[in-house]
Amino acid sequence: MAEHYEAVVIGGGPAGLTAGIYLMRAGISTILLEKGIVGGAPLMTDHVENYPGFPDGIAGKDLMARMAEQAKRFGLVVSEFTGVEKIGRSKEQFEIEHGGGIFTAKGIVVAVGTEPAKLGIPGETEFTGRGVSYCATCDGMFFRNAKVAVVGGGDAAIQEALTLANLASQVYIVHRRGELRAQKILQDRVFKNSKMTVLWNCRPSEIKGKDQVESMVLKDTVTGELTEMPIDGVFFYVGSQPSTAFLDDLVDRDEAGFILTEEDLSTRTPGLFVAGDTRKKLLRQVTTAVGDGALAAVGLEHYLLETR
Ligand code: NAP
Repeated sequence: MAEHYEAVVIGGGPAGLTAGIYLMRAGISTILLEKGIVGGAPLMTDHVENYPGFPDGIAGKDLMARMAEQAKRFGLVVSEFTGVEKIGRSKEQFEIEHGGGIFTAKGIVVAVGTEPAKLGIPGETEFTGRGVSYCATCDGMFFRNAKVAVVGGGDAAIQEALTLANLASQVYIVHRRGELRAQKILQDRVFKNSKMTVLWNCRPSEIKGKDQVESMVLKDTVTGELTEMPIDGVFFYVGSQPSTAFLDDLVDRDEAGFILTEEDLSTRTPGLFVAGDTRKKLLRQVTTAVGDGALAAVGLEHYLLETR
């Protein structure tokens, strides 16, 4: 038999946990479903230093453990390893199907974040876990005193390249343009770090090796020239994409798949709210995810009051 809650939050990152805190404090019975372990994207960030309240910064995993603890203190039920497969709607309520059964709810907050984008070059998939990685915080320790490359010039690439520079002997940042996208403070740290070199105007076109990554082929984005350089590991940070197929046509999306929301984070399906990196927005940070979680929860609270 289906288990019923007034609200279901899908996704256990900063947006989902904040939505859970606000919903529970509003007296709305809520369960949070997380397909893996609670914590979301910050679990893959070694050090978060732009979340207010922590003057010395805080490890991503520690920040998220605190948020989870706070949510549980207000009685939020958290179900880990519960991946949502499908959402149906019947008689003014949602049916949320997961591998182990069905939850029903009057309202939903979707806060499932994003997944790392793939470059799709030869060798990328083949060597994933054997020198190719999408998480420096998770895998960096395997590259102590090694030569590694980080592909991408955004905040994630540069922040994680800086983390790797504490372990590796040399970090190459491979960027397709002549200017980084990342925040200035992060860029300055790269330019001052003798272990770090930016390879401008190029991108990898192939990863090569036998059992492990041994080299990568770089293509100059201006001249088209190809060069092969020896490397022990390649970390890809070329953006992120939402994976929200389970929402089917309950929401509208932009051309990149991010969900379109109204000012109160409602969607075109009444009772369905979207918070955090999953939605189309200008800035994807823990600070903005937390704000989204609060907004979506209050939006849902109003919806529940109006439809009671
Ligand atoms: P991002 O900001 O979209 O940056 C992606 C990077 O990959 C860009 O430099 C882009 O190059 C490059 N790229 C994209 N497609 C490529 C391709 N086909 N070939 C080669 N390079 C390619 O993504 P992100 O760094 O993952 O960040 C995602 C969001 O999370 C952002 O809003 C970011 O601010 C936020 N974030 C914040 C922090 C923080 O505040 N500390 C940390 C991590 C992430 P171009 O620059 O040429 O487009």
